[in-house]
Amino acid sequence: MGLQIDIGAVLANHAALAAKAPGARAAAVVKADAYGLGAERIAPALYAAGVRDFFVALAREGRAIRALLPDDARINILSGHMAGAYLAGLTPVLNSPEQFFRDRAMRPGQPFAIQLDSGMNRLGMEAEEWAAIRDEALAAGPAFIMSHLACADEPDHAANAAQLAAFRAMTDGCGVPRSLAATGGILLGPDYHFDMVRPGVGLYGGMPFADARPVVRLSLRVIQTRTVRRGEMVGYGATWHADRDCRIATVDAGYADGILRSLSGSGIAMHAGDVACPIVGRVSMDLITVDVSALDTVPDRLDLIGPHQGIDALADRAGTIGYEVLTSLGLRYDRSWV
Ligand SMILES: *Cc1c(COP(=O)(O)O)cnc(C)c1O
Repeated sequence: MGLQIDIGAVLANHAALAAKAPGARAAAVVKADAYGLGAERIAPALYAAGVRDFFVALAREGRAIRALLPDDARINILSGHMAGAYLAGLTPVLNSPEQFFRDRAMRPGQPFAIQLDSGMNRLGMEAEEWAAIRDEALAAGPAFIMSHLACADEPDHAANAAQLAAFRAMTDGCGVPRSLAATGGILLGPDYHFDMVRPGVGLYGGMPFADARPVVRLSLRVIQTRTVRRGEMVGYGATWHADRDCRIATVDAGYADGILRSLSGSGIAMHAGDVACPIVGRVSMDLITVDVSALDTVPDRLDLIGPHQGIDALADRAGTIGYEVLTSLGLRYDRSWV
């Protein structure tokens, strides 16, 4: 089984998020190889389900899916127009006046979009920069104008309303489609939806979309099982000692596969059916040791991500977020898409 990716669940999550923003087109963010889950499978499936707007970070990622999608799919590049970028068939989201002038000089008449900074100070034109080129940019016909929220996963954060007001002040009356919300922004309600929403992590089963259908199941193979006597140690650094005789199973993945080393000693478990079997000792590069004493028979595989433990449960224990758990999942797993 290895890493099993439920494309039906991705499509269901997209439909559920789209239904929360009925007045807007629902794009799909498939950057970083669809958050590590395989853009070459997921983008065509989303297209077949009716999605026409896709977002990736880099032109290289855009080219990879361009070849797989029909011509009416719009593939937007969040990093915009970088010097030397090859953007045929792609829509750069222009983040600065410099990118705007480069793009208009090199790709006159080709589709582009604009990103404005509404307060996050990461990408996009500042209000003064936008004011200076606004007339020229609007005359050139941007496909849409967008901005991005810094705190949308915290509904009560004051930055949300402040960014909304800043975005409105810069774009009201532009007559161009607008986009502000990613997954978190969709959940903030209709004020944030504008004409297009850009869900990413919610498609893949992650927070802040608490109602998401889980997408990933990760089962690891048991290589070996042994008895460890009371007082013996397990793993690098001898950080764990058996306080009773126990059975330890060693499974075939580790931090090189995205199972973060910070999960060592976190109390996280692997599951055999409904039975939780705690990870003991340190997570090593290719291996994890698990206390399977609670099992009568040890199965061929144990689940790390599955019905009992989602990506965000793992992330909480590792001191990170579901996004990082997903995008860390390595390339060594046997992958299957169902
Ligand atoms: C990553 C990203 C998204 C998607 O965000 P999620 O929180 O994963 O839904 C949308 N817009 C921009 C600009 C992004 O960088």
